[in-house]
Amino acid sequence: MHPLARLDQRFVWHPFTQMRDWLSHEPIIIVSGKGAVLRDAHGREYLDANASIWTNLHGHGHPRINAAIKRQLGQLAHSSALGLANEPASLLAARLVTLANPRSPRAPQLAPALSKVFFSDDGSTALEVALKLAYEYARRTGLSARPRFLSLAGAYHGDTVGAVSLGHIDLFHSAYAGLLFRSDQVMAPYCYRCPFNRARPERADARTYRQCRWECVDKVGQRFAARRRRGQPYAGFVFEPLIQGAAGMIPQPEGWLNRAAEIARGHGALLIADEVMTGFGRTGAAKPEIRNSKSEFLFASHREAVQPDFLCLAKGLTGGYLPMAATLTTPAVFDAFLGEYEEFKTFFHGHSFTANQLGAAAALASLEVLESPASRRDRQRLEGTLRDELNSLWALPHVGDIRQVGLIVGVELVRDWRTREPFDLAERAGIRVCEAMAQRGVLTRPIGNVVVLMPPYCTTPAQARRVIRALGEAVEETLGKV
Ligand SMILES: *Cc1c(COP(=O)(O)O)cnc(C)c1O
Repeated sequence: MHPLARLDQRFVWHPFTQMRDWLSHEPIIIVSGKGAVLRDAHGREYLDANASIWTNLHGHGHPRINAAIKRQLGQLAHSSALGLANEPASLLAARLVTLANPRSPRAPQLAPALSKVFFSDDGSTALEVALKLAYEYARRTGLSARPRFLSLAGAYHGDTVGAVSLGHIDLFHSAYAGLLFRSDQVMAPYCYRCPFNRARPERADARTYRQCRWECVDKVGQRFAARRRRGQPYAGFVFEPLIQGAAGMIPQPEGWLNRAAEIARGHGALLIADEVMTGFGRTGAAKPEIRNSKSEFLFASHREAVQPDFLCLAKGLTGGYLPMAATLTTPAVFDAFLGEYEEFKTFFHGHSFTANQLGAAAALASLEVLESPASRRDRQRLEGTLRDELNSLWALPHVGDIRQVGLIVGVELVRDWRTREPFDLAERAGIRVCEAMAQRGVLTRPIGNVVVLMPPYCTTPAQARRVIRALGEAVEETLGKV
């Protein structure tokens, strides 16, 4: 065993990992990376098919991001945002505000304006900030004395206690129920397994052949109405726009978000968009009707013409290079915290590394790359390659649903596509398939029985084909014939 593997197994506790399994075999030790490729301590190369858990945008070792971090390091690594401003954080906040308020033919002027940026460190803290701000805003404005939040079934918003309180994944969350504050859940679209979808299984994304009456939208309306009848309207509606990630890469049919957001607004709730995964172009290139326009939507909410009151960003913010997050909000929320010092309306919240310079410098460079025509072309091409190549997987009887939203793919494995019968989680179908993919030089992690593909934007068509071929072979090898 590699000496570093021995050290790891002796001392490191890994996240979301059954450590008994971990200790039973030699772990892969990553030592370097370039573009979409990661290299391990034995010199083996792998394609990073989940962008290092959904964080990386433009590939590893990108010369412009590396140079920006080095340049900033020559100036200063970190000074506190408590009482001090700094250059890259100010520039980044301005840039984010511009991107969060796009103008386009489809959405000439999204309201409300997102004009203030609160920096923190990761997705969970971005949500904690939004949650605390929304809570206090609701109380101060008289919207609610005891604000309650509504989020989606299957929601995942991070692992800190506030974020877990908004989450609805029993496997992760039920153990900590006693620690949490109450929040409610409402049905989220999951066309493939929707009880209201009367369509028989087909060899296509379930969103495209579903037969329903938008009962999932009705459920949102009923939830809000019921709460209002009790005289306690929801203070906030929390959602992952276009696609729920940790729930199993579950996309929303076109139009769902727009309608759900309209209902929430109609009941006076604040909209909290968790774009930790979906932000920064992940949900794909511009729609055909605006393909030639200069602006494109880099955030998923905007593709449904929804402008939230809180926009939570993390993972891809720095291109996946450094931990940094941002919570954007409106002048109305900001103003509710203004006052004389002795009124103590201050937002008493912050983290040691808030507005860190290295992270902000990396983020500025990443955004520059993201907004370049070359990046836009790469993303459109990769989205198309994935769409074409994924078709080959429909031939496999253990592939039940293939869901693609832009540059995010979930492939749901089932016992038999004709019945949609799932594998027992204990059978570890997803884990075994991903292990077989790693044998073929492709790294990703499953969510239960869903294999996730989320390649860096620099992934070439040839590399994308290799990823999908590896997935197909791994499914055949691991799950065999029906
Ligand atoms: C990853 C993720 C989070 C949590 O982010 P961390 O950086 O892991 O704390 C929150 N929301 C969504 C949608 C995510 O994908």
